[in-house]
Amino acid sequence: MIYKHRTESKELMIYRVVNTRTTLSQSEMQYYWTLEKGYEGEVQFDHLLAPLQGEFIILNDLLFEINNTYFQIDSLLLAPEKIHLYDVKNFENDYIIDNDNNWYSILKNDRKKESKNPIHQLNRCELLLKQQLQRLGFKSPITSKLVFVNPNFYLYQAPPNHPIIFPTQLDRFVNQLNSQLTTAKLKERDFKLAQQLLQNHKDESPFKNRPDYTFEGLKKGIYCKSCQSFDVFTNPKTIVCNKCGFREKIEAAVLRNVEEYKMLFPDIKVTTTAISEWCGIIKSDNTIRKVLTTNYQSIGKQRGTHYI
Ligand SMILES: [Zn+2]
Repeated sequence: MIYKHRTESKELMIYRVVNTRTTLSQSEMQYYWTLEKGYEGEVQFDHLLAPLQGEFIILNDLLFEINNTYFQIDSLLLAPEKIHLYDVKNFENDYIIDNDNNWYSILKNDRKKESKNPIHQLNRCELLLKQQLQRLGFKSPITSKLVFVNPNFYLYQAPPNHPIIFPTQLDRFVNQLNSQLTTAKLKERDFKLAQQLLQNHKDESPFKNRPDYTFEGLKKGIYCKSCQSFDVFTNPKTIVCNKCGFREKIEAAVLRNVEEYKMLFPDIKVTTTAISEWCGIIKSDNTIRKVLTTNYQSIGKQRGTHYI
């Protein structure tokens, strides 16, 4: 049973929109792709676990704070009397571990570039989770694994005792987990723990990274929901993409853009004028006003009206 589903982080959604509406700098682009790739890997992992049978609780994307230290968990599987912690990596290409346990990515010309040791990260996460459990009054044993989901990943010189699941081991890993899960039953305590973990989960990390953007600097208009092209035209009731043919009801498209605007500019008021400029192609302010009054609460009167 999934108690907490995975959704894109706000950080990723902001990068996605800004990338659609302007050109990101090279370092922003690199960061954005790391976020996209990470998310893609996590979703892939969710699909792998989807056929699991038996009694268990899955909590995805958790963020906790303990003694001013934040730590994030990709997937937590609460099984009867045992907790499985998974850190999912979508690494590609070749990596190598040297004798001192340092990780390097192997570049095209055989040069090596040091990369963060993900096992240290995993150990830190497990340690902090242990503290969090203690604080909540629980003591279940934790098994932590680093899961590499990308079939194009290879790691040279990995000792067999490292807590790693390689892409070629994924099927066996799921089968083994499945056979463990079908034998025992969850207790009330396990559900209590899931509830408490959810209550302690933080929605937003204070360390999130944002691309550099302004209202003026972003391209205005409604882009296609399916292929992100700005090459769309409006019918009386729908917006149609010239590129892929995707149709979206005008109200839904405007709403999508209002939510986007609110996410990008949380401190700026939502007004008919602002949304009209933001959406660009909607000719009539009345259409925008109607969508706003139907879906949001209006504050103020006439020209000063804004919506929350
Ligand atoms: Zn399209």
